[in-house]
Amino acid sequence: MNFLRRIFSHQDEDHNDPTFNPERTDDLYALTEEGYIIAQDIACQFEYVEHAVCPDCGGELLLVAQINRASQGLNELVCACKQCNQRSSLIFDVSNTTYQTWMSRQLGDLYVRNYDGPPRRPARRQKQRTRR
Ligand SMILES: [Zn+2]
Repeated sequence: MNFLRRIFSHQDEDHNDPTFNPERTDDLYALTEEGYIIAQDIACQFEYVEHAVCPDCGGELLLVAQINRASQGLNELVCACKQCNQRSSLIFDVSNTTYQTWMSRQLGDLYVRNYDGPPRRPARRQKQRTRR
């Protein structure tokens, strides 16, 4: 989990990047009850891939496909290991309020809410708070 801390420490590097949400919270990368990774903008999902490693051999991951699951409030990134070519999927929650608020600001009149369900939240909020 150390790589998550590294990402947190870089979180306010580039405020001019339109894929970056300057209002990211401590819930970033927390897991929902279903095991989805909480995303709060576009950039964080690619940052996560950059820092993640292959579950089999620990090799670096290469992004090979994106599966739009907006109707489920999800976005799936399919990766391949650079060393052993093993495929793995990272499934991000984009139903959360931080992401949706940011997205609606980005899109303005073009914003459409694709997912009807309630926003997902971190599985264990208490634990998230103590991480600071
Ligand atoms: Zn591998």
